[in-house]
Amino acid sequence: MKFKNLSTQTFDSIIGLNDVKKQIKSALLLNRHIVLVGNPGMGKTTLVKDLATALEPQTLNDCPFHCTPTNPVCPSCLKKTAKTKNYKGSELFIRVQGSPDLTIEDLMGDIDPIKAMQFGPLSEEAFTPGKIFKANNGILFFDEINRCSQRLQNALLQVLQEGRVTIGNFDLDIPVHFIFIGTMNPDDTNTEPLSDVLLDRFDLIYVHYPDTSKEEMEIVKKYGKSLVNFEDKLFANMIQFIRNLRLNPNLERFPSVRASIGLYERSQAIASLNNHKKVKPLDIMEAMTSVLAHRLKLKPSLAYSTTPKEYLQSEFNQFCEGVGISLSSDEVP
Ligand SMILES: [Zn+2]
Repeated sequence: MKFKNLSTQTFDSIIGLNDVKKQIKSALLLNRHIVLVGNPGMGKTTLVKDLATALEPQTLNDCPFHCTPTNPVCPSCLKKTAKTKNYKGSELFIRVQGSPDLTIEDLMGDIDPIKAMQFGPLSEEAFTPGKIFKANNGILFFDEINRCSQRLQNALLQVLQEGRVTIGNFDLDIPVHFIFIGTMNPDDTNTEPLSDVLLDRFDLIYVHYPDTSKEEMEIVKKYGKSLVNFEDKLFANMIQFIRNLRLNPNLERFPSVRASIGLYERSQAIASLNNHKKVKPLDIMEAMTSVLAHRLKLKPSLAYSTTPKEYLQSEFNQFCEGVGISLSSDEVP
């Protein structure tokens, strides 16, 4: 796999995170497998999708295994010479969504009942290759790898170790060659922890919150919808309030950038319904519970005495007092 001018790629879908981008580029330069680690709503998926655009086009066989023309590996290309096809980088970027329901057959392939009747149940022809083969000579993007079953993780480990997929029932043993890019959310509780041997196959790259308020404001404006005027000063304060929550020692789960976008949009929508020409602090307050309360988690010691909703409101009141924002509602709209 080759990338177009990796050193000069800026991966602009994500603003900032230059250190993370550099780590990714350095891993991809030598085709190393990586897993991006970070909480939801940090732009991991967007970042990986951007990588697909940097993948060079390739000429490969027009078969479901994406065989290299000079060294075909699949049963059909081994039997007769296949046509070649020019694949765009994006066609060599295969996304798999990790979930407990994802089966080994989804990933590796399965029997096609109609072909099985025609060619016999254990024939090579009856085998329909799974997504892992489409990633051959490209990128296998595995979103939320740690949400997959232990069984599937073990099957994947075998592929990464041996560089080939072995399917016993079909007597198939086919080499595959791809770059693995995974993501995982370290705080997800519905997960199967990755085994040490599987982790040993990857480099881990930690995706963090935007470095500065300014960057976060830029991201929110780029991805958030606009409805009514949101003055920069109040907007900057809203972002700062969310960034402060991320440092709050009373919390153990924090609002993401997606939460900032949500609050930006919903505050404007509330302002519009309140017939305000521009967003007011009380509009933010009104939108806040629905956008933020479920996205943060209070430390157990605090969770006994207050709810996320009450806690947020009191934090916002204190924040407004501190920066001199008035929450009174008797101003002219
Ligand atoms: Zn082939």
